[in-house]
Amino acid sequence: MRPTGKLHLGHYVGALENWVHLQNERAQNGAKTYQNFHLIADYHALTTNTDSSLLHQHSVEMVLDWLASGINPDESPIFRQSQVKPHTELFLILSMLITTSRLERNPSLKEQVRDMELETIAYGHLGYPVLQAADILLYKGEIVPVGEDQLPHIEITRELARRFNATYPKPDGNGVFPEPEGKITKFSRLVGLDGKAKMSKSLGNTILLSSSPDEVMANMRTAVTDTNKVRKNDPGNPDVCTVFAYHKKFTPEHETLQIDADCRSGALGCVECKKRCAASVSMFLDPILERRGKLSPKQAEDVMLAGEARARDVAEETMRDVRAVMKLG
Ligand code: AMP
Repeated sequence: MRPTGKLHLGHYVGALENWVHLQNERAQNGAKTYQNFHLIADYHALTTNTDSSLLHQHSVEMVLDWLASGINPDESPIFRQSQVKPHTELFLILSMLITTSRLERNPSLKEQVRDMELETIAYGHLGYPVLQAADILLYKGEIVPVGEDQLPHIEITRELARRFNATYPKPDGNGVFPEPEGKITKFSRLVGLDGKAKMSKSLGNTILLSSSPDEVMANMRTAVTDTNKVRKNDPGNPDVCTVFAYHKKFTPEHETLQIDADCRSGALGCVECKKRCAASVSMFLDPILERRGKLSPKQAEDVMLAGEARARDVAEETMRDVRAVMKLG
């Protein structure tokens, strides 16, 4: 994840929830399942905003959200991309193995250009998925739990792994890198409060994971509902309603079914529906808020430093394999 400050519900349902799930699966089953690595993509954050003055603060806030959501840094190292040098080295090598036209076809880039109304694209921004491929391949990642918008990047990572393995095979004919797979959650794309396809900080349509119940309610009031439901008792269509999308995730299923029926019949007005939704979201956030309240920025900094030492060992070992098959040095 890029350190863009405090996380929102989209980050949680699209990625973080899966991370915690995979981590806990491992804790229960021992080493048979996956080892998580959690990267703070601080270089990636520079692709759309070159101001680096807030990167540290944003990284700390993000780590606090990760820890509060259940990431255990002893199990799953947390580290900054900029502090583990092999990321830049492998990025450079991989960038020789892909064409600019392939990167220009990346649908996530096109979406970002449209949403952020960018007039030009930096060279580093075009190469975003190549750096991401380095991030994944350095740890010989097999599963990448991400939101749906990231799947085109995982595809590019797979292509780069294949191309590297074919260009520089090991003496036994095998490749250095596994081909990773993206793993999306059921709610792979959480809609924003304004009804836009994606909850996103840059679109200003978020509910933060660290919101108090009052803040959740204030955000929820602004949520776009079915625009054809003008008066309280007009029948509405939950399928096009932002608030209902949140109910589906955060409200118990039997209650959600009733809300669906009462909205369609006109028995339930939007104001009441939003109140109930805010209560469900706050109930979900309550344990996260409680854990976050007990953490300090210093703890987040210590977690990053410890994770960076562990990540460096793994990344350096991979680079030794890479340099060996390329006969570098
Ligand atoms: P980013 O902030 O772009 O670095 O995203 C970090 C992770 O959160 C990626 O796996 C995204 O796919 C995921 N993510 C961010 N916003 C959303 C959203 N609104 N719905 C689902 N997943 C999201």
